[in-house]
Amino acid sequence: MQCEQVRESLPSKTERAVELATEKGASNWLTVIPIKEMNFNLNKREFRDAIKLRYDWEIADLPAMCTCGDLFTVDHAMVCRHGGLIIQRHNEIRDLEAEMLRMVCTDIETEPVLQEITGEELNRGANKAPDARLDVHARGFWDRQQSAFFDVRVCHPNADSYRELSPKQIFQLHESEKKRQYSRRVLEVERGTFTPLVFTNRWNGR
Ligand SMILES: [Zn+2]
Repeated sequence: MQCEQVRESLPSKTERAVELATEKGASNWLTVIPIKEMNFNLNKREFRDAIKLRYDWEIADLPAMCTCGDLFTVDHAMVCRHGGLIIQRHNEIRDLEAEMLRMVCTDIETEPVLQEITGEELNRGANKAPDARLDVHARGFWDRQQSAFFDVRVCHPNADSYRELSPKQIFQLHESEKKRQYSRRVLEVERGTFTPLVFTNRWNGR
């Protein structure tokens, strides 16, 4: 009850940040043991910045302009394609998924190239490129000996275009987009399964 009142009194952007902070898994980084070998040891500024991002508090000393020429804001930093951050965080998650799958499955491959389409009928919106790749392949994940393909998407839920959507709707949006692109192709051509893996970048602000 009191919690509801506090929430309702927040400006809408802060309310969104708080809502995302209560998502499953969004607080794990606060209780994790800061093991140095795993790079879990944030320095004090990283820790403070991550807390500020979590509650949408202002971060001082931000540069005024981004290297891409746009105004620099926290939200811009999360979606700017200039600094390589987006690709980097995507690849880190791809590699982490592959590493974990390697413990339980066989035939792990990152960036597997899909087989060419030779007359198979695919849905509209399917990616039909001859050199299309997904992020990870594993054998035996859902079913014995069956090929399973995974593709990672990291989204920034505070982006303007998602303002009207709940976190759940944002996940679903990305999930269905990925499925439209690859489900049928993987099923028809690879005789495998396709699983999109959608993450937000809120887990520690990086
Ligand atoms: Zn930029």
